[in-house]
Amino acid sequence: MPVIPLRGLSVLPGMVLHFDISRDRSIKAVEAAMSGDQKIFLVTQRNPDHNNPGLPDLYEIGLEAKIKNVAKLPQGIIRVMVEGCERGQLLDLDESGAYLTGEIEEIIWEPLELNEATKTAMVRALQELLKRYCQLNQKFGKDMLRQTLEITSLSELVQQIAVHLPLFYEERQKLLEAMDLAEEYDTLCTVLVNEMEIIQIRNEIQQKVKERVDKNQKEYILREQIKVIQEELGENTLLSDVENYKKAALELEAPEKVKTKLLKEIDRLKGIGNNSAESSVLRGYIETLLELPWDHASQDNQNLKNAEKVLNEDHYGLEKVKERVLEYLAVRVLSGKGTSPILCLAGPPGTGKTSIARSIARALGKEYVRISLGGVRDEAEIRGHRRTYVGAMPGRIASGLRQAGVKNPLMLLDEIDKVSSDYKGDTASALLEVLDSEQNSRFRDHYVELPLDLSQVLFVATANDLHTVPRPLLDRMEIIEVNSYTANEKLHIAKDHLVKKQLERHGIKKEQLTITKPALMAIINGYTKEAGVRQLERKIGDICRKAARELLEGHETKIRVGEKNLEKYLGRKRYTIQKKNPANEIGIVRGLAWTSVGGDTLQIEVNLMPGKGEFLLTGQLGDVMKESAQTAISYIRSVSEEYQIESDFFQKKDIHIHIPEGAVPKDGPSAGITMATAILSAVTGIPVRADVAMTGEITLRGRVLPIGGLKEKLLAARQAGMRTVIVPWENKEDVEEISKEITEGMEFIYAKSMPEVLKTALVPSKD
Ligand code: ADP
Repeated sequence: MPVIPLRGLSVLPGMVLHFDISRDRSIKAVEAAMSGDQKIFLVTQRNPDHNNPGLPDLYEIGLEAKIKNVAKLPQGIIRVMVEGCERGQLLDLDESGAYLTGEIEEIIWEPLELNEATKTAMVRALQELLKRYCQLNQKFGKDMLRQTLEITSLSELVQQIAVHLPLFYEERQKLLEAMDLAEEYDTLCTVLVNEMEIIQIRNEIQQKVKERVDKNQKEYILREQIKVIQEELGENTLLSDVENYKKAALELEAPEKVKTKLLKEIDRLKGIGNNSAESSVLRGYIETLLELPWDHASQDNQNLKNAEKVLNEDHYGLEKVKERVLEYLAVRVLSGKGTSPILCLAGPPGTGKTSIARSIARALGKEYVRISLGGVRDEAEIRGHRRTYVGAMPGRIASGLRQAGVKNPLMLLDEIDKVSSDYKGDTASALLEVLDSEQNSRFRDHYVELPLDLSQVLFVATANDLHTVPRPLLDRMEIIEVNSYTANEKLHIAKDHLVKKQLERHGIKKEQLTITKPALMAIINGYTKEAGVRQLERKIGDICRKAARELLEGHETKIRVGEKNLEKYLGRKRYTIQKKNPANEIGIVRGLAWTSVGGDTLQIEVNLMPGKGEFLLTGQLGDVMKESAQTAISYIRSVSEEYQIESDFFQKKDIHIHIPEGAVPKDGPSAGITMATAILSAVTGIPVRADVAMTGEITLRGRVLPIGGLKEKLLAARQAGMRTVIVPWENKEDVEEISKEITEGMEFIYAKSMPEVLKTALVPSKD
């Protein structure tokens, strides 16, 4: 019988199917069969890749089949339709002819010797299996299932299922090789169970894959939708922004390290997209890095003559300050380094510290940034917050640099005496790192994360009171004292600078408004009380405002403000100078004080009352002043014999010390000798000279110790008309340094101890 070896295909009895053949031998076999009884033997190759299989390459069991139809297809392919008939065993194969011929032994199955009940049970069991299979494999048609379930004959059922089940050829081959119905039945059941397991596993895998794909798909679609929406709204800026950032990063004048970090962060931004909260934080960070002046510097103007000109242009007087500034600049130019000490301008408010700093920047052609340190308590304000904090920002120093846009600006650290530390870290030590030339070339801001180079920044600090500046900070700065102005200096400043500035600010021309010299003097003495010129400037501003209105309303075209019509513009005088008392009095002494608004005279009054030796202090005094009063009393008691004071005097009398103008808090030790003099005068009944003012600290043994703020104090004494001033011996040199404008015509008594003070102050007894 002609034999056709099949590749990847097994045919079972009862199956009708077609397959294509192209091998020459197979085509010839079909032709031979067609010319004979149309029977052919189909046998499956063990290995489908084999092109010329011999007997050992074929399974032993095959199938006799009847050719039903042959059709020629293009390219020499023949499509054969066959119907499977009986199983047969291939005993021998003749390969010598044009086609394979085989010796076949037909396999006849023995009938099954089983009772009907068993058969029915077997039928049902198989049907059950098939049902479950169909549930899993939806592809196995419902019609097919119904038809199959109607079959009651075991052999027919087995055959139908075997034929219709979509099986791999190897499984079919196993069914084909069954030696009787019982074996085929068993094999079929095993195959079914196996198939179900495979399908189940496959379904599970598919489900998982599907879920994953669904999720990705959903996200993808949503993202695409967002993109479209953003495009519609013109918001899809991310990509263009990323490009711009990258471009800016590559063009940035910065060290490689900074660029690498920037590019990394930009990539990260691209990764996280535009919508998360993190992206805006990241954008802020990238923009900060891009705006910081890493290697970008401006050219300094090193011409000292120019610097001098600018300083003189902007400020009247302040000779010493200007001189120190110019020396400092000269050293900077010569050494070519920025590592000279930091300048600190110290003095009362309104004396031009900030504006001098601005002038220095102008003189050097530097960018100017002002960092106000007043009230800074948190270290993070200086050093920045770490980026993990919500709302993190760079510190003030880094922000200042960013604002300046160059790495060598003049940075004004305003009010450096007002920083304080609390539990949130040590602000002073953070500042120390900023100012220390050893460390500040690698200043670390927590937010920026990369080291910043501050070594080329010119730092200028200002302070009102150096006592509160921490010592280590003070050591790193070169202190330049800016003193309060005398009335005369104020007059000059007003005439040359303030009036001009205010006129300009109010849009008034020089010809339209004149403020006379006496008027300015009256403002200085009657309307302001200050060390600097801020109030004065404000008062001039007030006049300008009123004048502007008058000019606009057309009442006048030219306004002249003199002493006479000053009240019209500024109202009643606010201050009168406390003049010296008209007569010598017992228990009243004029002291001198230094306050934040400059110098002032301080009248100390002492009264004695019958009592139990108690002692009372009033008038808003600080602790130091109270202790100083106590010391004064102790001293007086210790010398009571010399002044013929009765020994039980201090047990029988109460002493009340009062310092008027209670609204102004007063503190400091410099009223010590004043209080001692007042008490002694009250106790002994000897009057005190009304034209003597004094200042000095007292010790228990009556020594007189030096004090500060002398210039302001003497200024106040002069204005009050005091002609004799008692000053501690150790302040003698300070007095000599003070300008003649103040000291002219005044008599100074330099005292080392209390008796010298008393000798001058107490009115000598007539006898
Ligand atoms: P500070 O910083 O010491 O508190 P400012 O620098 O703010 O004081 O000065 C207050 C105002 O006084 C500024 O308008 C400043 O220009 C002006 N000023 C102070 N001193 C002088 C001076 N010597 N010459 C000219 N203007 C001055």
